[in-house]
Amino acid sequence: MHEVSLMENALVIALNYAARERASRIHQIALRVGDLSGVEPDALRFAFDVVTQGTIAEDAQLSIQSCPTVCYCNFCQTHFRPTELGYECPTCQTWSMSIVQGKELELASLEVS
Ligand SMILES: [Zn+2]
Repeated sequence: MHEVSLMENALVIALNYAARERASRIHQIALRVGDLSGVEPDALRFAFDVVTQGTIAEDAQLSIQSCPTVCYCNFCQTHFRPTELGYECPTCQTWSMSIVQGKELELASLEVS
């Protein structure tokens, strides 16, 4: 499952951070997940329970913040939110291929002690 390896990567970052802070427990992990990342929040929660087992993040809360897709129009030099119909600039109707936000899966914040 795709989500397990993504969650493993996020957990490694979280554990490294906790080690640097000399923390013995991770209480909360917040992830930023783009709408285009192809990640299912439910699968991510399941993966979280699996990969945190036996680690200091075992009882941590997972919070998932979803990030809407944002495109950039080269002609208007503006950012816009695409619709369900596609990545078309609402001002000049040019099809945009440049997605500036929406694909990320990254650690947003951590609570350790
Ligand atoms: Zn435009």
